[in-house]
Amino acid sequence: ETISDSCTLIDGYQLVAKILKCLGINAAFGVLGIPVTKLGICCQQERIRFISTRHELPASYAAGAFGYLQGKPGVCITVSGPGCLHALAGLASATVNCFPMILISGAAENSQIDRGAFQECDQLRAALPHAKQVFRVEDIGETARYLCRAYHIARSGRPGGVYIEFPSNVLHQRLEISKVEHLLSFSKEFISCPRNLPTPTPDVIERTIQLLRMAERPLIVIGKGANYACAEHELAQLINNLNIPFLATPMGKGCIPDSHPLSASAARSLVLKESDVVLLVGARLNWILHYGKPPRWSDNCKFIQLDICEEEFHRNMNIALPVFGDIRECVKLINKAVAKEPFQVPISWRNKIRQKCEENTRKLESRLQELRIPLDFHCALNAMRVVITSLPKPKPILVSEGANTMDFGRLILPVEEPRSRLDAGTWGTMGVGMGYAIASSISYPGRSVIALEGDSAFGFSGMEIETMIRYNLPIVTVVFNNNGIYGGTEKSADPSDPAPTSFVPNAHYEKIAEAFGGLSFWIETAEELVKALRESLESKKPALLNVVIDPSAGTESGSLTSHN
Ligand code: ADP
Ligand code: MG
Repeated sequence: ETISDSCTLIDGYQLVAKILKCLGINAAFGVLGIPVTKLGICCQQERIRFISTRHELPASYAAGAFGYLQGKPGVCITVSGPGCLHALAGLASATVNCFPMILISGAAENSQIDRGAFQECDQLRAALPHAKQVFRVEDIGETARYLCRAYHIARSGRPGGVYIEFPSNVLHQRLEISKVEHLLSFSKEFISCPRNLPTPTPDVIERTIQLLRMAERPLIVIGKGANYACAEHELAQLINNLNIPFLATPMGKGCIPDSHPLSASAARSLVLKESDVVLLVGARLNWILHYGKPPRWSDNCKFIQLDICEEEFHRNMNIALPVFGDIRECVKLINKAVAKEPFQVPISWRNKIRQKCEENTRKLESRLQELRIPLDFHCALNAMRVVITSLPKPKPILVSEGANTMDFGRLILPVEEPRSRLDAGTWGTMGVGMGYAIASSISYPGRSVIALEGDSAFGFSGMEIETMIRYNLPIVTVVFNNNGIYGGTEKSADPSDPAPTSFVPNAHYEKIAEAFGGLSFWIETAEELVKALRESLESKKPALLNVVIDPSAGTESGSLTSHN
């Protein structure tokens, strides 16, 4: 190969990176190795940040969360075989959560299939049930077409994961620079093509208004689809104009601030039980919303469902009025129609909710003021709330997982801005937190991130502390350490082994950060927690706070009915 050859020829690695750049991809997550190693350097050459994690699992979760936060596909890059399989959990999770994501994997080449080649695996078939679409690129000349397809499918309709693999021979293939220009302009043309988001017809909007106007006890339920659709301004207008109470799902939070006077989250059980007309905005009637069924919901509640996925309608309940379209566009149309003939939600309903909220908030507040040593969830979360409340906007992004840690955290920690809270999501997956925190930090450069983790949830990807420190990300990881899953007090049934849900008691997780040069704190009191959290956030450095929680404070189900 002569020098002039390498100047006029471009290989598959360079081409993939160049096309990703054309598509507006500015970060990718992954673990490098044969056959994709060079892809990392090529991304960097194209000014695409490459975030190397220590395992593909957190990289894949990061890519999905990055897609959700950015509103366009997040990219994960893996090696063939085991690396790819590790990332399938993130791909599946993205699809289930409706996050746009592309998993790019190396793969064994055709001539090696079924020969027992290095890391040979039928990845395409493994990925198929967990993705919206899967592709195998057989020729370097097809790279642009397939990557554009992957990008388009991941973000279209209901967003989700797309899998695309490059056999090693295709990555090594070379193309003349003249042909490359053509592929790049193909990609640029694709990405600049305007998108047409679906909107409902005027009569559907008219019927929506009618149902809301006739309702005695209407409610808006805001899901993560509304956050993803960036519908916060339109929804605020609708809620304020109608004076209509709203309830946010765990990841729908922040679209409208928790502190909004019409937030019914402190009266959740009451509004589920008594609402007669419910406008679902980007929220599915799955387990998170008790399937829309009695006894949690009223028998004759009418649902209006606003969604970009027509197949979703009527899944668990007959939907009185499906409104098919993009949330932002739909709510804009509803607002226009309301402006023509304004009306207000009955005041008696609002008052009833307000009273219930006040009563429940009083109960919770008095519980939060109880000082405990060792700390319990309430006391520790209250300390965190004190710090978060005192901070100016934009507040830190909050990533939250762990059974009790996440459940209580959802109640106690306020969320005031859209797309600023990520949690275990549709599957209730534990182990997403480190990847989500990294994605949040890359997505919002300079903004702090708090990763609030149960000790069990943290353990899934605890080594990513090294990644956070290596990239100097301002992430404060707070581990609520209660010595185990749910808690560390379970008795073992086997005298020679510990209980299956318990961990080494009083573990010094903070030393993991210390090992790599991050800030680290061992915390036993609320005062110490306030001080360490403030100091860590101010430093803008990666930190790990190991918070000792009473091992008997947790409950198995994390049931919160007593608080509603
Ligand atoms: P949550 O867990 O908060 O209840 P879900 O993930 O169950 O939220 O529901 C989100 C819904 O939002 C999905 O049904 C998805 O199809 C829908 N969705 C996503 N983006 C849009 C959009 N731009 N317009 C309308 N609906 C959307
Ligand atoms: Mg625990």
